[in-house]
Amino acid sequence: MDRNEALFQRAQAVIPGGVNSPVRAFKAVGGTPRFISRAQGAYMWDAEGRRYIDYIGSWGPMILGHGHPAVQEAVRKAAADGFSFGAPTEREIELAEAIIAQVPSVQQVRLVSSGTEAGMSALRLARGATGRDKIIKFEGCYHGHADALLVKAGSGLATFGHPTSAGVPPDVVKHTLVLTYNDLPQLEEAFAAQGSDIACVMIEPVAGNMNFVRAQVPFMKRLRELCTQHGALLVFDEVMTGFRVALGGAQSVYARLIDGFAPDISVFGKVIGGGMPLAAFGGSRDVMSQLAPLGPVYQAGTLSGNPVATACGLATLKEVAKPGFYDALSARTRSLVSGLEQVAKTAGVPLVGDSEGGMFGFFFASELPQNYGVVMATDQKRFNRFFHAMLNQGIYLAPALYEAGFVSAAHSVQDIEQTLAAAATALRD
Ligand SMILES: *Cc1c(COP(=O)(O)O)cnc(C)c1O
Repeated sequence: MDRNEALFQRAQAVIPGGVNSPVRAFKAVGGTPRFISRAQGAYMWDAEGRRYIDYIGSWGPMILGHGHPAVQEAVRKAAADGFSFGAPTEREIELAEAIIAQVPSVQQVRLVSSGTEAGMSALRLARGATGRDKIIKFEGCYHGHADALLVKAGSGLATFGHPTSAGVPPDVVKHTLVLTYNDLPQLEEAFAAQGSDIACVMIEPVAGNMNFVRAQVPFMKRLRELCTQHGALLVFDEVMTGFRVALGGAQSVYARLIDGFAPDISVFGKVIGGGMPLAAFGGSRDVMSQLAPLGPVYQAGTLSGNPVATACGLATLKEVAKPGFYDALSARTRSLVSGLEQVAKTAGVPLVGDSEGGMFGFFFASELPQNYGVVMATDQKRFNRFFHAMLNQGIYLAPALYEAGFVSAAHSVQDIEQTLAAAATALRD
């Protein structure tokens, strides 16, 4: 038996489904997940010693590639000084300053340990600051596994959501309204009916949990106007896009296209921790002063602002802030996506892709989907066949058609070429 299979069997005896986060189990594509023993640069090696070009990057954090020397050094030094103090440290200030320096809409941040925690806390803050209960989210956007956010649309706009997980009482999601991404008339209707009760709208500005779908510019512009008009807060979940699609996150992309654009609250994770458990949420000083110990909104964490995690995040943010970093990363990512489109065209297979910064997506379809329903209607069988054909050739793509992909600064021209050659073979079957 292959060592990956043996480990998977052993894992299933002691860990539910053999994994500590469901998507790792390869359920969407079938087959045995690879157990990773080490990683360096753009590559990961599995338990059999097979090498893969990694397009997951730990689902986003590894923007510099694995084992970047400056980051490793920072982590080693921080670990030597102690793992956790439960008291404030200077590095927390430095990380907060590093985030604020790149994101003008954020004047203060609170550091936490996971994107879920940050999203959940941002939601509480928005409700506390507005004194309202109702929230809007969009189908296909993932904001972590907090109860109020594990919800799908009810029947029609009048009814609020249904839980998508057992163990979430319907009562807990009765304030969550789920709308279709990029559906402007529906958004208008929802605000017309409920506007004065809405605490916030939470959105992935470039959605990466339904493959890769951008919020259209007129949709985003009107969303901002409606929030302002009705006193609702606009919460940008940039856990995936923050410091990934651009140095200033997705909000900087929209700010270039929409005059004076800014969200009210931003949520970060993934890249800001550089691979360590670290996330954050932030906004104006006014909104953030609602948080304990200053204000009435409670939020806390034993390991929040952990000294080793902050060292890792800080060293990562120092590298990405170097001039030209995102230009080079964007160009490399674009070359992958346009190469895939070219290879598919040659093979006579419909495929379209898109990217921003170091984040990308591709679909077995002839047009870019604009919402979750359309993403899920793309050719699943074709994707799964392609995924396994690529994996067998040492190319590690996200194991589900509804996940985005990631390129790091460590991916070379040769890595992209090797990937495209593998894709040409994979698309011939
Ligand atoms: C990954 C992700 C989260 C959840 O972060 P965790 O660290 O996995 O809890 C939330 N929102 C978005 C947009 C994400 O991509």
